[in-house]
This record gives sequence, structure tokens and C-alpha cells, in this order.
Amino acid sequence: MIYVYDLVMANKLERILGQETPSDSPKKLASSPRRALYSTSTPASHENGETFVLTTPLYYVNAPPHMGSAYTTISVSKLLGKKVIFITGTDEHGEKIATSAAANGRNSAYHCDLISQSYKTLWKELDIAYDKFIRTTDAKHEAIVKEFYARIFANGDIYRADYEGLYCVNCEEYKDEKELLENSCCPVHQMPCVARKEDNYFFALSKYQKQLEEILSQNLLFVQPSYRLNEVKSWIKSGLRDFSISRALVDWGIPVPDDDKQTIYVWFDALLGYISALTEDNEQQNLDTAVSLGWPASLHLIGKDILRFHAVYWPAMLTSAGLSLPKMVFGHGFLTKDGMKMGKSLGNTLEPFELVQKFGPDAVRYFFLREVEFGNDGDYSEDRFVKIVNAHLANTIGFLTLY
Ligand SMILES: [Zn+2]
Repeated sequence: MIYVYDLVMANKLERILGQETPSDSPKKLASSPRRALYSTSTPASHENGETFVLTTPLYYVNAPPHMGSAYTTISVSKLLGKKVIFITGTDEHGEKIATSAAANGRNSAYHCDLISQSYKTLWKELDIAYDKFIRTTDAKHEAIVKEFYARIFANGDIYRADYEGLYCVNCEEYKDEKELLENSCCPVHQMPCVARKEDNYFFALSKYQKQLEEILSQNLLFVQPSYRLNEVKSWIKSGLRDFSISRALVDWGIPVPDDDKQTIYVWFDALLGYISALTEDNEQQNLDTAVSLGWPASLHLIGKDILRFHAVYWPAMLTSAGLSLPKMVFGHGFLTKDGMKMGKSLGNTLEPFELVQKFGPDAVRYFFLREVEFGNDGDYSEDRFVKIVNAHLANTIGFLTLY
């Protein structure tokens, strides 16, 4: 359900961006109950400077959509009157996805087709219209990733080295020992990290320390809300280390140019989806064309758990490749259920399909937009949900009074 949360949040963007204050009026919702959340735009005329390019994360297809992803996507709903390119999609490479496919008895490609389609179905059920849906297994995406890699390589920012460290398979990254919990447990996944040694390609992130510090001190809106900007500043201040951008042990990924024994690290691949999404399928696929169609993005709307990738790694990678930075990265909070963190192991997940089927798209969108302060964590409970929706929407959406 975290995914639904993503989409809901975009509805509040006008407030952040200084646009017209969004109305929470039930009447307004009820007056066009099947309206698409996002007004899809006329083709982008990026040159006039008025096009607003907005992205949700590309959702990871190891498992079907949950409410949090929907929350980000629902949030992207009301930039009416602007030319908007709304980008979403699915992040489909990496060890975790290959493992999840195998556990379900599927080959990786088929697994990705199924889960990616379930996202499209969910957005349809929630009446959410997007302009671009990128899959990181699309051929056009692979071409852009390889070109981007080659640019960074040519700039001298990629080198090969042995790496030995503690690896969280679920995060798909090596961890700093100082950030781990007892027994080398990943703080996000509460599972022990495993010792690994690999011969990898590295990105020279440390070279960009000073530049990133300058970007964040000169552009206070680059990371929002401001308390997350402070978090990012302190990560950078503690010292940036180069990070590995290839995997020798992972087959399910884009091969490293000139070395097909390694695949490109899933984040180095997925972030490029924000750019590759801009191209049309029938166009020549290269970075310059993609950039001319809408880069830089006006806003990356993300969950706070992936802030480091978007606010530290990504700007450094873009700078190395000679590309502009997105104008803003907004990290929203997490959804809890009945005051508790949601998770499969806790048995308290919130299934977005069930919620939409039971209450309808307007009620779901309304609840998350109204109840969750944008940026902070927010809680769902069915009692509260029914109470709020009945109190605010019952006069116009009568079926909820049945509950
Ligand atoms: Zn982890």
C-alpha cells in the first residue's frame, strides 16, 4: 500500500509549489467522480520553460504494488493548467527480482511483465492517468543507460576495484558497518547483511563532495521538506565514499559496456528511467534527444527511504555526465497501519486493490490526501478511514454510509 501513498501525495503538490491551494471539498471530488487524477498534457514544449515534469519512483517489481507507491502516485494529481509530463514506471532489474521470480516459479522477464502490468491496473482502478510509463527492461531505456555510463566513464569517474564488505540483498547495496544494527543487521530490513567480495566498477562519488555541498547550500529548495535537506547535508558532511555500480554475481541486469561478465547496479540503471521515459518509442534513442524532451525534471516525488539515491548519488552522477539537476527532490513519509509499521512479517499490510474495490477510488484518494500531512508519516486505520470518508463524503457518495 506504500505505493498508493506515493500517488496520493502528488495531489498536494500545488501547495508545495506555490500553486493554487488544493480544495479538500467533497463536492469537488464528487462532481467528477471518474476524473483522472492527473491531467495529461499536450506534447511537451519544454523550450518555453512552462512544462512541469514530475516523476514518481519507478516501482520495484519484486512484489505486487502496495499502498505506499500508490500514495506517491495519487499525490501527483492536480497540476491543472500547466503543461505537465507525469512520469512513472517500474524498476525491473536486480538480484532481488530474479530471486522473487524464481521463488514464484517464473522466469525473470515473465515475472516483470506480470508485476509491471499490475501497477498499470492499479493506476487505472484509482483513476490515475500518467503520461509516460517507463520499464527499465525497455530497449530504449537500456540504450540510454549505456550511453550515460559511457559518458561518465569518458569523464574518468568510473574505475575497477575489488570490494569487500557487508551486503544487504534487500537494499542491494554494501553497507557501512557503522550504520548497521546488532549482528550486522540492516536497519531498514532488520535482516543480517552477508559478507561479500566482488571485483566491481566504481563511481567516484567522493570527487563530488564539494560540489554537492555547494549545490545544497545555494539551493535550499533542492531537497524538501527542509528537515530532509538537513539530513542529506549531514550525510554529505560525514564524508562521501565511492560506490560500486556493477555486480559480478547478478545476471538479471543491463550488461556493463565492454564487460558482459558484469551487470549495471540496479540504482545506476533505474535512476536513468526519469530521462529515458521522455523519449517516444519510435524516436532515435539517445541522451540528447531525451534531454531535449523535458529534462531536467521539475520534481522527483519519492519516499524518504530512497532519499540518499536521489539527493546524493543522482546529482553527482548527472554532474559527471554534464547534465542538469532536477529542480527539487521531495521525500514524503511512510504509511503506518493502526500505529504500526506495515510489513508482510507483521501480517498487517494494506492491499490497495482490496481498498479500492471496497471503497472506490475517490474515497481512497481523499483519505490519504486529507489525513496525511505531506512529508510526514501518516497512519491508516479502517475505523478512521470509514469515519473520515463518511463524515466528508457521505452526502455525495452515498454508498459509504453502508459501512
Ligand atoms: Zn537492507
